[in-house]
Amino acid sequence: MRAEVIAIGDELVTGQRLDTNSRWLSAELAVLGIPVVFHTTAADTLEAGVEAFRIATGRADVVVATGGLGPTADDLTRDVLSALAGRPLVLSEPSLQAIEARFATRGMPCPESNRRQAMFPEGSRVIPNPNGTAPGIDLSVDGAGRRSRVFALPGVPAEMKPMWEATVAPALVTLLPEAATILQRSIKCFGAGESAIEAMLPDIVRRGRDPLVGITAHEATITLRIAARGRDDAECQDKIAATEALIRECLGPLVFGVECEELEDAALAAARGTLAVCEIATGGAACALLGQAEGRRRDRGLAGVFRGGLVRPGDSLAASDAAALARQEFTADVGLGIGGLGLAADGRPVVRFAIDSPAGTATVDHILGGGPLLALPRAAKAAIDFVRRGGAVQPASEAVR
Ligand code: ATP
Repeated sequence: MRAEVIAIGDELVTGQRLDTNSRWLSAELAVLGIPVVFHTTAADTLEAGVEAFRIATGRADVVVATGGLGPTADDLTRDVLSALAGRPLVLSEPSLQAIEARFATRGMPCPESNRRQAMFPEGSRVIPNPNGTAPGIDLSVDGAGRRSRVFALPGVPAEMKPMWEATVAPALVTLLPEAATILQRSIKCFGAGESAIEAMLPDIVRRGRDPLVGITAHEATITLRIAARGRDDAECQDKIAATEALIRECLGPLVFGVECEELEDAALAAARGTLAVCEIATGGAACALLGQAEGRRRDRGLAGVFRGGLVRPGDSLAASDAAALARQEFTADVGLGIGGLGLAADGRPVVRFAIDSPAGTATVDHILGGGPLLALPRAAKAAIDFVRRGGAVQPASEAVR
């Protein structure tokens, strides 16, 4: 079984918007063990849409498309699928009621244009959309010598992803050669680049492995996603536990959490007492992350840790003095200081981090890397990691480049 992902939209083919949906869907299909062999991006015209779907259904067993399901005249995916399958659009009464109910809860009449969203090619199945008016379309199409299953979803990622999880992924699982349970777990790491992390692991990031391990990087946080297939949950969990133990053994303190936990959540959980920050080079980036993590702690009923921060761009204060100042200003147990821009002995730009606590002062020099837009947000995260690791990180500076 192989898949094709189609992204529909003029803003995508003109380069005004980046197609992140296809990337996300491809990773999801890979977790199910369905290889994606083609990505297609098509403009908002009937001709382009029909051509894209005709080619896709002729060469893939599963076609997942996003975009073009909205109420406006340039949203043509339903017309494209109707033309492709040679089936007329017919009204889905339950979908119309759901769309009308969405408008009614906001005290608004349902515009005529939105009624179009309740029209489906005859014989297709409706994919409910709990977060918007555009339901998705699930349709089987006979392509060139093969029968393809087409799933058309809205373009808005916040609508598309829950629809994938609730309806499309479960439908695909039933199509897999051996119906199986699939469980996933994400292991989050910080302090080394994607390739360095991959090199530290035995050969586990490899196609066809069971469980499958995927590696992705986002703002210097590396996520290892383990996906196991088995007869039932217990078998999947056993497989995941063995791979997770191996990852933790190989990566040690680079692993900071699991699932949706962020580095700053882990730092606050690990802080020895209350924490305050004074940042110079990073312009408030560390305070923003820690403030959000503090909010999440409070939502979960956990004790407060982050007391607050000072942002002093351009100040000439040394990092250790900044750490002491933050600690004093907020009467915190631990102060983190992020100094100004400096130069290492070899001429590379650095930022010094300092932790001031009852145990004394610890400092480390972080070498800036990754281009001007990325370098400072990364430095803020590296400083937060310095707190997570109790000021013991060596040498974080090199590792996060
Ligand atoms: P809706 O009716 O909910 O707007 P739609 O299917 O009509 O859904 P589009 O009009 O094609 O969706 O796109 C709506 C928005 O979704 C776009 O403006 C863009 O912000 C986002 N979007 C669409 N396609 C993609 C994509 N491939 N990657 C990332 N974002 C996308």
